[in-house]
Amino acid sequence: MKFGTKAIHAGIEPDPSTGAIMTPIYQTSTYIQHTLGGHQEYAYARSQNPTRTALQNNLAALENGKHGICFSSGVAAIDAVIKLFNPGDEIISTNDLYGGTYRLFTQVYERYGIKFKFVSMLEAEGIAAHITDKTKMIWVETPTNPMMNIIDIAAVAKLSTGNKIILAVDNTFASPYLQNPLDLGADIVMHSVTKYLGGHSDVVMGALVVNDDELAQKLAFIQNSCGAIPGPQDCFLVIRGIKTLHLRMERHSQNGKTIAAYLKNHPKVEKVYWPGFEDHPNHEIAKKQMRDYGGMISFSLVGNMESDVKKVMENFQIFALAESLGGVESLCGHPASMTHASIPREEREKVGLVDSLIRLSVGVEDAEDLKNDLAQALGKI
Ligand SMILES: *Cc1c(COP(=O)(O)O)cnc(C)c1O
Repeated sequence: MKFGTKAIHAGIEPDPSTGAIMTPIYQTSTYIQHTLGGHQEYAYARSQNPTRTALQNNLAALENGKHGICFSSGVAAIDAVIKLFNPGDEIISTNDLYGGTYRLFTQVYERYGIKFKFVSMLEAEGIAAHITDKTKMIWVETPTNPMMNIIDIAAVAKLSTGNKIILAVDNTFASPYLQNPLDLGADIVMHSVTKYLGGHSDVVMGALVVNDDELAQKLAFIQNSCGAIPGPQDCFLVIRGIKTLHLRMERHSQNGKTIAAYLKNHPKVEKVYWPGFEDHPNHEIAKKQMRDYGGMISFSLVGNMESDVKKVMENFQIFALAESLGGVESLCGHPASMTHASIPREEREKVGLVDSLIRLSVGVEDAEDLKNDLAQALGKI
């Protein structure tokens, strides 16, 4: 099956008792057992829920994996991955990382004796120097937030496989429509389902997809033991959201292209970060591993004045100032004061994260209206 058909049908069966085409919301905590001591698939809803099962199977199909496991949030999914490891183990991670992931690694799990090394992965070969006999996992995020850097997943996979290291990829920014890390050699794909998969800014959820049966079993054990499961209503909303994932991603990418090109030619814009540009430093890798380039764009302003950023962001009529991304509505964010405020200015500026950087999550509205909104807001400077 091709992607759009899988998005709508994979793992989804009509309800056996009524024929309802949509998976019912099984709002139950337990299931009646017909025999004493017998085994049945559904016994207690922390362990299994049919609405969740349908979603997990659907997600596995979208990532070309065998097993999907859903969690109550994206960070809960990451948390489950880290629980695979023991004190003394080392994890190598991308250095420009989602802030919540960085916080979980450094402020929670370093206390438990797990060691994290944050390195640039723009040249995959450079990672080799950081691998020791204690290295157990490489954690990759691509495209990165907010600089839209691209990491070569297949090249990192070669390093990890050769050294028997688990490769995990946070695929939130790309969504399974744009990129499938398992096909490129990753062992674990992680999603903040909150973003493109849910797609409608109404659910917080996370997911992992893997191929290896033993790894899936370990992660399912952690999911059941630690209990960070999503509720059935949220699973239903995500099943519904995913039915249009391919259509939304096509439009996000189209609008992304239009807006990126518009900003690039705007006299008040200094630099635009978007992997679809031929002069993006890793455009060739993006072209190789992604189906299209998506709707996440960052740009900085000529003069780099904080007062100008304020004017632009407070005058947007359609782009809403908000955390998060990947929903149907266009959002804007200011990384220097929002998501990346805890990083010292000199560190930020080294990678281009200047005070005037604005991050856009381009939604699926009409591109003409989005361009007009940018034009009027930039006109206020
Ligand atoms: C939002 C996000 C997360 C965390 O997911 P939550 O659902 O907010 O817990 C992890 N990685 C990336 C890239 C994200 O954007």
